[in-house]
Amino acid sequence: MLSAAFKAHSVARFSPSVRRGFATSIPSLQHAATLDKSQKAPSVKNFIHGQFTESQATKWIELRNPATQELLGMVPETTQEELREATKSAVAAQKEWRKTTALSRQRVMMDLQYLIRQNQDKIAENIVQEQGKTFVDAKGDVFRGLQVVEQACGLTSALMGEKMTVAKDMETYMYREPLGVTAGICPFNFPAMIPLWMFPLSIAAGNSIIMKPSERDPGAMMMLAELAAEAGVPKGVLNIVHGSVDCVNYICDEPAIKAISFVGSDRAGQHIYTRGNANGKRVQANLGAKNHAVVMPDANKQATLNAIAGAAFGAAGQRCMALSTLVLVGETKEWLPELAERARQLKVGYGMDPEVDLGPLITPQALQRAERLIQSGADEGAKILLDGRGHVVKGYEKGNFLGPTIITDVKPHMECYREEIFAPALVCLNVDTIDEAIELINANPYGNGTAVFTNSGPAARKFEHEIDVGQVGINVPIPVPVPPFSFTGSRGSILGDLNFYGKSGLQFYTKPKTVTALWKETDATHTRSSVAMPTMH
Ligand code: NAD
Repeated sequence: MLSAAFKAHSVARFSPSVRRGFATSIPSLQHAATLDKSQKAPSVKNFIHGQFTESQATKWIELRNPATQELLGMVPETTQEELREATKSAVAAQKEWRKTTALSRQRVMMDLQYLIRQNQDKIAENIVQEQGKTFVDAKGDVFRGLQVVEQACGLTSALMGEKMTVAKDMETYMYREPLGVTAGICPFNFPAMIPLWMFPLSIAAGNSIIMKPSERDPGAMMMLAELAAEAGVPKGVLNIVHGSVDCVNYICDEPAIKAISFVGSDRAGQHIYTRGNANGKRVQANLGAKNHAVVMPDANKQATLNAIAGAAFGAAGQRCMALSTLVLVGETKEWLPELAERARQLKVGYGMDPEVDLGPLITPQALQRAERLIQSGADEGAKILLDGRGHVVKGYEKGNFLGPTIITDVKPHMECYREEIFAPALVCLNVDTIDEAIELINANPYGNGTAVFTNSGPAARKFEHEIDVGQVGINVPIPVPVPPFSFTGSRGSILGDLNFYGKSGLQFYTKPKTVTALWKETDATHTRSSVAMPTMH
């Protein structure tokens, strides 16, 4: 049930153009769904061949607001027949779409970026309901995805080919072609940003795509599909199917699907990467993480503590780039009480409350798992400096809330260090030197992100060069690169070698073709067969 504050917020805070947008162009998830009498909740639709259609599914998954447990809708396990229908539509649409010019696809992307910007608040509002993050953070979720759409608007230069004269009258040229039908499988934690890492670049490159949003928060993707259609993405170029394992396995096995983009947990990612590859598909898979922040004694204490509190507890720790692990060098372990004080001041609650700093975890199961991992730390000899378990938010007593939690004196063998907790729970380890810190981080299987806090240029430089992690922050807690670059997590945090977005993202969705052409000037008068391999001079 939406609070009065939420309703007031949703009406009053949006600009007139956005409000017009609500009424005219973008149905919310509820509009895109109809009430299924037996389920007593709106059913989430498939989006196939440009139509939101009711699934004939026999299996349905509950979609609940994590702050209230309110049943928001029912997500279908899209049937095999519907999956085949989506594929058929994607195959047919791509045959025509690939013939369009990069210039015309660029124009569609420009309209899409405009529409997303115009409806950013509405999408963010949906994210708060389904995912639980704060409204400001949800707007950031949309914005970081929007940046990839902006990158797709630069398609014409990014897809420019290469040409060279390689022999007399002979030229070789290379251009990139789309792959055909692609697919995207998304996690729950960035319901707008991660779909936007996938479908805009794929479509801009001339592919069609079948998206499977997270079954826990598909609403943002549904809204984005509506906007994509309005921007001019033709029927069938973007389709949405739903569900979990059965749907994913279909995507891995369907021969018409040539490439899969996956973001999510290790378990699902390893399965999808292996099964997709075995079926001859190109797969990019971003997996789990354990991101370490190293605090050097010469760091600016206040700025560092603020940065760590924000990056460890913001978004309830449900970011793959959250700083979940603190490595305190030397006397910086004495800073922990101050960090705990800052963490204690963060307000936990419903995401539409503007005072709130962090919302709930996605499901009661995620909360139980996090609480179990915190307890495992205590059982294995660590100390719970700040315990957020049992946090109750007035008015939202059923929410999956965990307050900021700090576990100190953690050792690398402990389960709370080895497992990704994916919650506002920070594990802290003590070391004596920067060398020890680097050794610890390089021994961890994950390589998504890391940060060092220091005022020493030499220390920062040493860290940057010796650390084996793909995304490094120097006094920057969450070093997620913007789309002129790519998201470059490494080691256990990625499978496949073409990264999301940036140049590499476009490469993932295209394949190079080289053509060597001979048009002899002399052919105008006389021809004679050549039997030797052409030489390049
Ligand atoms: P998840 O793996 O549970 O779900 C991701 C997708 O995989 C969903 O669409 C889901 O339906 C599907 N899926 C889940 N289990 C499956 C199975 N057994 N077989 C086939 N498909 C399955 O992940 P999540 O909980 O939604 O997301 C959180 C995880 O994602 C965290 O581990 C986080 O670190 C990771 N993540 C990584 C990045 C990154 O860029 N490295 C970004 C965001 C999230």
